[in-house]
Amino acid sequence: MKRTTATTTDLKLINRNKVYQYIYEQDKVSKQDLVAALGLSLPTVSQNLTELFDMGLLCYSGTFESSGGRKAKKISVISDARMVIGVEIKMTHINLLDIDLKGNPSPIKRLEIAFEANDRYGELLAAEIDRYVEERGLDPEIILGVGISIPGVLSEDKGQIINAPTLKARYVPIESLTKFIKYDTYIENDANASAFAEQNSRKDLTTLAFLSVSEGVGGALIYNGSAYIGMNNRGAEFGHMSVVSREGKPCACGKKGCLEAYISTSVLASEKDQPVDVFFEKLKEGDDGCAELWNDYLLFLCMGINNIRTIFDCDIILGGTLARYLGDSFDDIKERLIKIAVFDSTADYLHLSNYRSNASGIGTALHFAVRFIKSV
Ligand SMILES: [Zn+2]
Repeated sequence: MKRTTATTTDLKLINRNKVYQYIYEQDKVSKQDLVAALGLSLPTVSQNLTELFDMGLLCYSGTFESSGGRKAKKISVISDARMVIGVEIKMTHINLLDIDLKGNPSPIKRLEIAFEANDRYGELLAAEIDRYVEERGLDPEIILGVGISIPGVLSEDKGQIINAPTLKARYVPIESLTKFIKYDTYIENDANASAFAEQNSRKDLTTLAFLSVSEGVGGALIYNGSAYIGMNNRGAEFGHMSVVSREGKPCACGKKGCLEAYISTSVLASEKDQPVDVFFEKLKEGDDGCAELWNDYLLFLCMGINNIRTIFDCDIILGGTLARYLGDSFDDIKERLIKIAVFDSTADYLHLSNYRSNASGIGTALHFAVRFIKSV
């Protein structure tokens, strides 16, 4: 008897979730749409809608046009019924944002707090998250959790930062970052998080390589909708592909000649820790020195992209801080890629990140949103 009860409850939850997910995906639906699309009876659909309205997850959003009779009401999900905080840990600063259940991001709040691998930093981070929630006027009760992206390799159980060259962090317990935060936390490598955000926003792309170019250079691979992380959780660390011999430029990882040493955005900053804005302003003004540096930079950027394309033969998304500045240069990059390609006669496989520079914060936050949507 007990077993039967459990099965009935499970079935009820499955039906409720089907109804919620269908409305979530279709945006605006009528009760009749749900009956037709899900193959459920009208009373079952009505019952589930009542529950979902009572849970504060649905709203009416107008009426459909009708050729006669009563107009059907449009039903939509309330996208800000739950919210998630996204945190991007960077070498020199922290980015904070929030997303709703549809993944719509708020503007980023940038805090000039340099990374430190200690409790003081963890305490500061927790206090800044609380301050952010208050400033944004978010109800702590509806916050599903805090997603945190780290520019480095994490242990398989995500309990440790194994190596984050740009943070100069090795074997740092994640707990020191998260133990003061009062919400659930989820940690992800920044490139994996960004790739997840990109894939989530491009349902047609199920296999892709993501190249993230910021102070650090990382990457991620998504194969048939799932992340490929490799044997040691460090697959697609494109930044540390060798592009020059041992006499190459020193890389933050301690080796020489890695791609990151040539295409990190800090290469473009005229002084250390200076934002790259100044470089791109000067480049636009026609500064010769900047043009020369940009030409050399693109040589290595295209070498990296071409290598990834040659190995994986899949779509590539270029993201990270660099993506913010590439609007004018994107066609130039594609032309350069065609010139050095062995197999391709177009570079249509290359896409700019949909999120420009804040994909990793959105990607880690999406973890909670997706989990919630599947569990309603
Ligand atoms: Zn390296």
